[in-house]
Amino acid sequence: MNESAKLLGVSAKGPRFLQLIFVDINGVPKGMEVPIARYEEAIEEGISFDGSSIPGFQGIEDSDLIFKADPSTYAEVPWEGIARVYGYIYKDGKPYKADPRGVLRRALERLEKEGYKAYIGPEPEFYLFKKNGTWELHIPDSGGYFDLVTLDKARELRREIALYMPAFGLVPEVLHHEVGRAQHEIDFRYDEALKTADNIVSFKYVVKAIAEMRGLYATFMPKPLYGYPGNGMHLHISLWKDGENAFIGEDGLSETALHFIAGILKHAKALTALTNPTVNSYKRLVPGYEAPVYISWGYRNRSALIRVPAFWGNGARIEYRCPDPSANPYLAFSAILLAGLDGIKRKLEPEAYVETNVYEMGEEERAKAGIETLPESLGEALEELKKDKVVREALGEAYENFIAYKEREWSEYVAYLESRELPLETKKVTEWELERYFYV
Ligand code: GLN
Ligand code: MG
Ligand code: MG
Ligand code: MG
Repeated sequence: MNESAKLLGVSAKGPRFLQLIFVDINGVPKGMEVPIARYEEAIEEGISFDGSSIPGFQGIEDSDLIFKADPSTYAEVPWEGIARVYGYIYKDGKPYKADPRGVLRRALERLEKEGYKAYIGPEPEFYLFKKNGTWELHIPDSGGYFDLVTLDKARELRREIALYMPAFGLVPEVLHHEVGRAQHEIDFRYDEALKTADNIVSFKYVVKAIAEMRGLYATFMPKPLYGYPGNGMHLHISLWKDGENAFIGEDGLSETALHFIAGILKHAKALTALTNPTVNSYKRLVPGYEAPVYISWGYRNRSALIRVPAFWGNGARIEYRCPDPSANPYLAFSAILLAGLDGIKRKLEPEAYVETNVYEMGEEERAKAGIETLPESLGEALEELKKDKVVREALGEAYENFIAYKEREWSEYVAYLESRELPLETKKVTEWELERYFYV
């Protein structure tokens, strides 16, 4: 234990400080610290703060917000000797419209009204880098998919992360080296949607903190290196009704599951604005790196946007393969679940079924099968979002905050490209992206 920790009496008396954490419009955790004695007050009355400088929140003229702790999320940060808790944000006594956690809670209430509960399990991927003072990234290992020992320099670090995860309520399930050099994946157990969204925020925090302690940087940006695989965050999703998995049918998937798939396919273009919300996200969605490009679905087929994994018993689920870890999980889940619910309510039938590798199909063949292409840039995705009422409404009034923030982001990037005389279709990763997204 270091000197200041001793001074604070961490070991003798438990945590002395409490971090009150919420996420901004990007899903990046933000927070203030209060003495632990204020915990009860943080639960009951809430703690006020100035939200004017939080990305995607209020302007300076009207930014008094209240944070109320959700005690079910309380955890102690083992290496800092402090505690932290997530919560909801209020404004003028009412839930604050642009609080992403509140947006998801409201979306889940709409799902519950129809009798459904959603479970989600993510597969987040990340790279470990050394930086050489500039944006030159040094790759510390030469391993690939499932490589072990000498090629895998980060195996101990991965295990260390997994050992810390339970302190935050995460249950690690699988740890492995990914396809990219110095790329890794740690999967943790699925849970109810809100809990999983919280878990994703906690997971990224733990990975980054442990990597930093070991002199490395962990990045979740979707495509840190041109020519290398991107970081995905596949989502395994199932809906439950009356305590049973509603995706199980007589002989495979249920009608409910098929309608849910159809709903996602129908809204897939607008959904990318939420599941792939950064300029960099679209550098990942290109052929050749196991990332989806075409709007299709299939059983087992990893070239499809939606894959139905082989399952036994209660494991019936879909795997949605375009989300990446730069997504704000609360907003992305809200949008995905309500798009799927739209399919269920309208009894839509999924088209664009594929059994073969979609990348190997010709353009004509794809057109015949009704297979369309995902948006190719953040700008395109935002245009799709503006046209899609169901996805817009999934965000409630936070939609306005989101679209305003993201349109600014897109136009800043376009201005950057112009200043460098680069074309809009640039697929190489720019320094603008590294500066903006490396630490997200
Ligand atoms: N990295 C790939 C992606 O971008 C996924 C690779 C895999 O998990 N099979 O989605
Ligand atoms: Mg995986
Ligand atoms: Mg993977
Ligand atoms: Mg997967």
